Parts: sequence; C-alpha cells; structure tokens
Amino acid sequence: MILILNPDTAPDSPDFLQLTAYLAKLPGISYRVHQEHGAQQTLTEIYLIGDTASLSSETVESLPCVERMVRVSEEYRVLGRHKDDDRPTHFDYNGVRFGQDTLNVFAGLCAVDTPEHVEAMMRALRDHGQVCTRMGAYKPRTSPYAFQGHGKACLPYVFELAGKYGIKVIAMEVTHESHVDEINEALRQTGKPTGVMLQIGTRNTQNFELLKIVGRQREFPVLIKRGFGITLDESLNAAEYLASEGNSRVVFGLRGMKTNMGDPHRNLVDFAHVPVVRRLTRMPVCIDPSHSVGTRNRAPDGILEIMHATAQGVIAGANMILVDFHPAPEKALVDGPQALLMKELPQFLEDVRIAREAYEKRAALAAAV
Ligand code: PEP
Ligand code: MN
Repeated sequence: MILILNPDTAPDSPDFLQLTAYLAKLPGISYRVHQEHGAQQTLTEIYLIGDTASLSSETVESLPCVERMVRVSEEYRVLGRHKDDDRPTHFDYNGVRFGQDTLNVFAGLCAVDTPEHVEAMMRALRDHGQVCTRMGAYKPRTSPYAFQGHGKACLPYVFELAGKYGIKVIAMEVTHESHVDEINEALRQTGKPTGVMLQIGTRNTQNFELLKIVGRQREFPVLIKRGFGITLDESLNAAEYLASEGNSRVVFGLRGMKTNMGDPHRNLVDFAHVPVVRRLTRMPVCIDPSHSVGTRNRAPDGILEIMHATAQGVIAGANMILVDFHPAPEKALVDGPQALLMKELPQFLEDVRIAREAYEKRAALAAAV
C-alpha cells in the first residue's frame, strides 16, 4: 500500500510525526518514506509493506497528512500501474521532461574516443535542436582485450563540451559503483555544465548490488536496459530494485533479445513490447535500435533497417531513442558498423518526427472511439 501525503509535508511537522508513530505501531507492517523534491514542491510517499489487507481506506485516508492511498499488487510496487493509481508517469531532470507522453532522442557516440569526435557530435546535435546525447565512457566488452572505454579520463572534456553546446542530459553506462563517484566528481570539478542519466547495460540488468547502489543515489535518473536473455517480468523487477531503494526516476530500455532467431539482426527486435511496458508500469520506455539491429543494412525502399526499427518503436509510443552516431565510423573503437553518419542526422530526426506524428494520430483516433 502506498500513502500519498499532502504536498510539502514537512518530515518534522507534528502531523507527520503523529502519522509515523501510528504506522510504527501497526502489527505486521513496516513502512518506508520516499521523498521526491520537484521544482515546485516536495512530494512524500510512504510505502507500507506486510499485512496491509486489513487496513481500510477510510481509516488510512483519515490519518494526518494523508491525501490518498493506492493499494498495490505484488508486482512492481513502486514503478507499476495499479488500480486507481494516478501517480505521475513522468519526471523532470535538468530541465528536460521524461514521461510516457514525451519523446527524447539520445543520438551520440557508443564510446567516447577523441575530443574532436565528441565535439563534432555535440555541435551537430546543437545545430539540430537536440539537448540529449549518449556518450559511453565505461564499456563492458565481450573480450578482455577489447577497448574498455576511456573511463574517468574523458569525463571532464565530455562534460565541458556538453555545456558548450547546450546538451542537458548525457546517457552514460556505469558498471561499477566507483563510476558513479567519478561522474559526480567530474561534474563537480567542471561546474556541472550538464546532467547525466546513468545507464545500466543489458549485461548488468540483474547485477542486484549495482542496482541497489544506483537506486540509493538520488542525483541521477537511470536508464535500465532489458536483460537480453531473461523475461520481461525479470527485467521489470530489476527496474523495481532501483525504485525500491529510493530512485524512481527510471526509464526502461528495450534493446533486442539475444537469440539466433533474430538473425540477420544483431538481436531480435522487441519493440512490440513498448506498449506492454507502458501498460504494466509508469516508466517512460526507451528503444535502442542500434544495438537491436546492429548493422547499416538498407532496405530496398532506401531506408536503413535501423531507421525502420526506430520508426516501429516510435509509432508504438516509445518515449526515448538511444541511437549510435559517429563522425567517422571506420575509426570508431566500439560498434562502428552500426553507427549512423553525421549527414544522416537530419533525415533520422525527420523520420522520427513523422513516426511520432503518426503515433499521436493513432492515439487520438483510439481516444475518439
Ligand atoms: C550500449 O548502449 O552501449 C550498450 C552496451 O548497450 P547494451 O547494454 O544494450 O548492450
Ligand atoms: Mn555499443
């Protein structure tokens, strides 16, 4: 059960103390307080865990500070959609809104290699009105001998260039707790010119200790990728780990499943699950067409297969696109063969706009019948 408190309830107010004293005495029930500090107000939710079936809504809603309650099913308690659940399906970070009603494009480098490539990418994004990007500094690689990313060495110039070109959010994978500290430190040293969305990669979707650590920090929102060899339910539970530790600013990413049934794509594209994740949870849903398709093959209609897959996700209501671009893919240190070219950026963005418009028309049509 979730108690939604009146906005701006102060944790040291007599009413709040009276409420928590009451909750502490309930037999077989424990509680946890979650606070979300928004630009306008602070929202407080209290999660009651245990034998809550015997608590009536009248009793609970008459308690001090309580605005209303939501009874949750066992599944995805914090991030899920429950009966009569009108909790928000969006969050704001560094001036950018991420929600089930918005669409943000994160075009960028799979792996940071040189400051020149980072700058060329960010300049192109700025020139096309984009405020988000992807920049990999810590790369989990199949081979221990492959390039592992520049790590913390590249962070200062990546952040400074982001500030220079008006980039507000950079998606960046972390594979270890120390990476979060390094990102925090580099942002501090450079005067916070940009924001970061921490990415949990598909290989770490069930790295529960990493999830707990990333869930405990409140500085950065998180993009968690679906695990490439586990069920959707298992991946959604992984996302719930982040929220259960306190960070519910979570985006869920579809990136294809590892199976030969997807050949000749790198992974079996799973974007038909975009509406499913939106139905089961309140998370914005990201698609990663680059790691799903994995090649620059072009269909007979002249459209790259990566763009076809992107359009399929967007027309189904995707809220974020993570896509690899590179100014010189032949020189890229990671995933060059799937990177789109700088000159393809305007076409990509226009193709996305067309697909989004089609989605909005489809949603309006459904709402009208
Ligand atoms: C990536 O986005 O760079 C990446 C490694 O993705 P995934 O975890 O989906 O393989
Ligand atoms: Mn990659």
